[in-house]
Amino acid sequence: GKNRFRIFSELLNAESHENYAMVEELSLAIERNQLSLAVQPIYSSEDYRLVKGEALVRWHHPQFGSVSPEVFIPLAEKHGLIQQIGNWVLAESLKKLPHWIDVFGNDFQLSINKSPFEFYDHDDCMLLLKHLLHENGLSGYNLIIEITEHSLLEHTDVTERILASYSALGVKIAIDDFGTGYSSLSYLKRYVVNILKIDRLFVAEMTANSIEYQLCKGIINLAKSIGVQVVAEGVEDDSQLALLLSMGCEFYQGYFFSKPVSVAEFGHLPGRFNHV
Ligand code: C2E
Ligand code: CA
Ligand code: CA
Ligand code: CA
Repeated sequence: GKNRFRIFSELLNAESHENYAMVEELSLAIERNQLSLAVQPIYSSEDYRLVKGEALVRWHHPQFGSVSPEVFIPLAEKHGLIQQIGNWVLAESLKKLPHWIDVFGNDFQLSINKSPFEFYDHDDCMLLLKHLLHENGLSGYNLIIEITEHSLLEHTDVTERILASYSALGVKIAIDDFGTGYSSLSYLKRYVVNILKIDRLFVAEMTANSIEYQLCKGIINLAKSIGVQVVAEGVEDDSQLALLLSMGCEFYQGYFFSKPVSVAEFGHLPGRFNHV
């Protein structure tokens, strides 16, 4: 009835006010120094060397506390703030990258997440990227751009051009959350792809001979047969690691090895994981 409608619309209103307040605060987060980076190490199966890292943005607000990127990234995408945040992440990451190359070796690569919404401003993005690489004395070789499988299927020609322009700089392309998008794999032929990241949901639910087990095995075999690296995400225990190792997975990321750590801590991580 009428009353129920009123309550419902008040609820909706309260929600949009809250969102509005959050968007407003998010738009000020950079100038107020509320954003920071966390970095999670990625290890090679060969010798358990720390060979890559993934940069993950953090937002700490004085009243809201720590807001998950699962909450504020979609909000930023919706309200036109993702470009600004993406540029901040890129600038901060590339500032630190030369030091991490010194510490972890010339083949160290840092992964950065890109929202498909950032593609709308791709030309500006490329200019900034070139500028930042130059300013920090870097080549594209040490940088990986992660895009989700989902975002690949939307614009095809544009996407092709964008991915090619990263490749031209030596920047590697990783498909994030691999296996969760539509199961059309035709883009692997169409686009330059260097790395597949197996979504952590598959790893979490993997037990011997489960569907997830077969999926992981399939992805790893596919990657190997087309000469693409494969990273398992969300590895939390040694039984998952053992299964993935038996399938020949080369790279590992997850709480079993390390949670994401602060930028300051990352440079102090041991260059090799002590596997027992
Ligand atoms: P993602 O790109 O799939 O990042 C991996 C997420 O899994 C991270 O969550 C990481 O902390 C978490 N994780 C890593 N290992 C484990 C594990 O062993 N177990 C479990 N349960 N979780 C693990 P986080 O940092 O909260 O980020 C969530 C998502 O937010 C990211 O998912 C990514 O989609 C987005 N995001 C984070 N930083 C950025 C950014 O700078 N730009 C953009 N566009 N998106 C970002
Ligand atoms: Ca990612
Ligand atoms: Ca992922
Ligand atoms: Ca994800």
